[in-house]
Amino acid sequence: MSKIYRIACIPGDGIGKEVVPAGQAVLQALAATQPGLGFKFTSYGWGGDWYRAHGEMMPADGLDALRGQDAILFGSAGDPHIPDHVTLWGLRLKICQGFDQYANVRPTRILPGIDAPLKRCGPQDLDWVIVRENSEGEYAGVGGRVHQGHPLEAATDVSMMTRAGVERIMRFAFKLAQARPRKQLTVITKSNAQRHAMVMWDEIALQVSREFPDVKWDKELVDAATARMVNRPATLDTIVATNLHADILSDLAAALAGSLGIAPTGNIDPERRYPSMFEPIHGSAFDIMGQGLANPVGTFWSCVMLLEHLGELGAAERLMHAIEQVTADPALHTRDLGGRATTAQVTQAVCERLGAAA
Ligand code: ATP
Ligand code: MG
Repeated sequence: MSKIYRIACIPGDGIGKEVVPAGQAVLQALAATQPGLGFKFTSYGWGGDWYRAHGEMMPADGLDALRGQDAILFGSAGDPHIPDHVTLWGLRLKICQGFDQYANVRPTRILPGIDAPLKRCGPQDLDWVIVRENSEGEYAGVGGRVHQGHPLEAATDVSMMTRAGVERIMRFAFKLAQARPRKQLTVITKSNAQRHAMVMWDEIALQVSREFPDVKWDKELVDAATARMVNRPATLDTIVATNLHADILSDLAAALAGSLGIAPTGNIDPERRYPSMFEPIHGSAFDIMGQGLANPVGTFWSCVMLLEHLGELGAAERLMHAIEQVTADPALHTRDLGGRATTAQVTQAVCERLGAAA
């Protein structure tokens, strides 16, 4: 039976405009070489340019346009001439929140051929999935500022956790750990210092763990977790953390795996009420924009996650295999990996490995 998936493409700003079309090209190559698989892409020119023309990062009814899509492929939002909070909250977070994509999933592995900074660590020692709570916690936006400019000035950022919010992310993380070969989950916490929300976080982890007796789990303080990631990477598998903790740990993870340009992420609505969104973790990188220097591998790997989310496991595996064949060849490394290949060359090489005509 033939299936045509509707994919919304939002390149956004900077190198997003280069890597998202590259992602579309490899998905198209997959479809061309796999009977019964097809994609219908719709592109949306939202982001900094849209802001300059319309005073907002995306139209007010933008979410309605996306609602009927099967998934979203996102590039990056960020523009040196527009404040960060506008670009972030006006587009990416609007979609994450509007579609209740409460689970942010970040796989980390050292791909073949990549020179990663941990010299004692081979690909077999580093295979993690970090699950980030993506809807509340430290980034809930709760807090305030009083007496501005006065000696009594004060400000708070309140980390707000709800029982329902913590239960759903814990359940998602345990389920994901259960589906992986090692069936192992590490719950990141800071309940030694933060005595309210983090204590509830720990309690709920214990409670949800009882639903998954076959998953081995442990708790780790976030500060100790950074050292463990560097010194004993093989002892970690699936990791769940709050919005802020996972934000930091996943950048560390991306660096340990060799380059920001490789790492993928998915913003998932596990209940599938809305489309989920897949994107490379890097930003708009205006310093290298428009020069063909952007590494498209993070976007390609995000396409693998997109395919897995759609249930196209065979296609996902084929694409991952093609990506690994390409990273294994230093002649196909972009500049961030110490090579000289261009975005277009890497893209073409992946399409060729998929068996598509160049
Ligand atoms: P933003 O403000 O949107 O986060 P940024 O300019 O901070 O964007 P980042 O993506 O956070 O850029 O990356 C920091 C640097 O890493 C970039 O300036 C760029 O040089 C490099 N970099 C990031 N992504 C890639 C990539 N895909 N390919 C090559 N280099 C990259
Ligand atoms: Mg940045």
